Amino acid sequence: MVSSKNGVTIKSKHEIASMKEAGRIVAIVLEKIADSIKPGVTTAFLDSIASQEIRAMGAKPAFLGLYGFPATICTSINEEIVHGIPSDRVLKSGDLVKIDIGAIIEGMYSDHAITFAVGEVTDEAMGLIDSTRNALKIAIETVAPGVRLGDIGSTIQGYAEGLGYSVVREYVGHGIGRALHEDPAVPNYGTPGRGMILREGMAIAIEPMLNIGTWKTEVLEDNWTVVTADRKLSAHFEHTMIVTQDGAELTTVV
Ligand code: MG
Repeated sequence: MVSSKNGVTIKSKHEIASMKEAGRIVAIVLEKIADSIKPGVTTAFLDSIASQEIRAMGAKPAFLGLYGFPATICTSINEEIVHGIPSDRVLKSGDLVKIDIGAIIEGMYSDHAITFAVGEVTDEAMGLIDSTRNALKIAIETVAPGVRLGDIGSTIQGYAEGLGYSVVREYVGHGIGRALHEDPAVPNYGTPGRGMILREGMAIAIEPMLNIGTWKTEVLEDNWTVVTADRKLSAHFEHTMIVTQDGAELTTVV
């Protein structure tokens, strides 16, 4: 691990290999969780699948116990943006559920999130899901050495706001590697040409959170669950990636 001038680390080949394994595992486990997402299932059941499968693959859950978080995955429903705690709440048709999952292999982290439609959802909800997935895709396409964080943030913000959605400000993407959250912060908003310059070997998690209404957020009384201030829908997608010579290589893929 080599530190660059601003304290952001350049990952070694060995570290990158472990990050790719940690990423592959969460991608596989999230596919298994996806198979079980349907009306009538509790979020605690989805959490139990994650706990079992991550360990079965020889990895450790990245979120359990981190800052005191009490579960393996975050399950955030409808107006809940991130950090929802799995519980005996039952998913119903029309819900939009965000699953956020991380794993550790040889001390190296992965972080991955997908928003799922439960049963039949409204066109409005489906549009939000599709647009948030697409915001992440076009953000990933901008990543390369020499690109600035403001270029990534403004790409997401411009796309989202152009469609009439808002972009969450208080929660952002991040560097990742030997910890889940490393420098730099990777906002989903910003100004082109501003912010830190990406270099080959850096690892970041990009995670746009798009809202139907206001970008403002609140935290519920459990001190974890982040919701939209106006209780309108939110969607969230996230991939972990390594900056390569000419782009980005996703770790959180099968
Ligand atoms: Mg993250």
